[in-house]
Amino acid sequence: MSGSRLGAHLSAAGGVWRAAEAAPAATCDALQLFLRAPGRWAAGPSPADEVERFTRAVAAAGLDRHCFAHAPYLLNLAAEDSSLRERSCRVLVEELQRAGRLGLAGVVLHPGSAGVGGDRGVAAGRCRDALGVVVEQAGSGAARVLVEGAAGAGGQVGVTPAELAALVAGCPRERVGLCLDLAHLWAAGYDLRGDGWERLLEEVGEAWGQPVPDLWHGNDTPSDLGSRRDRHTTPGAGQLGEEFFRRFLADERVAAAPLVLEIPPGDDNQRVREALARLRCWLP
Ligand SMILES: [Zn+2]
Repeated sequence: MSGSRLGAHLSAAGGVWRAAEAAPAATCDALQLFLRAPGRWAAGPSPADEVERFTRAVAAAGLDRHCFAHAPYLLNLAAEDSSLRERSCRVLVEELQRAGRLGLAGVVLHPGSAGVGGDRGVAAGRCRDALGVVVEQAGSGAARVLVEGAAGAGGQVGVTPAELAALVAGCPRERVGLCLDLAHLWAAGYDLRGDGWERLLEEVGEAWGQPVPDLWHGNDTPSDLGSRRDRHTTPGAGQLGEEFFRRFLADERVAAAPLVLEIPPGDDNQRVREALARLRCWLP
């Protein structure tokens, strides 16, 4: 198969290894999962054999180096409230360390938000300082942080590749990376169907010194260009559309990074299977 490794965010309910075990039947060549419920601060108990079970399932599925975690949505490293910020840092340190033990290739993080009426520049500074501390505290065995570009709603920081690079300026380069969501980019005003595609890759190259992000979130979206509304749909079913995805998949630069879908997986991951089959049939 040519092109990217294509996969999806799968459920880890019942244990993180469940997501890896489900990946082959869901036809995922790349995987994303939550290490804890995304709307909760506390992690559930981890069984003593978690790492062993997970790494065995990953090896069996051929997913080595292509598994990623997504940090909980509650975290806000840019928050003005210092207790929320510190709590966010503590949880992120835990996530990075656990992801490191599991051998994951990165933990995707929404950088955070200035809040209503907050100053985005000041908030970005708080996030940058917090990330520097978190990455150092997490230690050398921890997984990389992949900062994910936001759609730009409600004072969110980290929309453009340059803004995202500034957030990790206080971290060693090998400990950080970039995740871009096609739906967020569209909502943030990158006309990916037009000249926004080349502009985006130029910006990634300039700010990050690499041709493409480390991970794609390959979502389509019903939201309007520049609307800042973060909504996901199956590739081809939204405003990006089949024609965009065909061009995207045919771009040789794209294949350097894995892609995961973040869509409702359906019963038995049926919707994931269908969406991935469609993407593969659009590969050149
Ligand atoms: Zn995300």
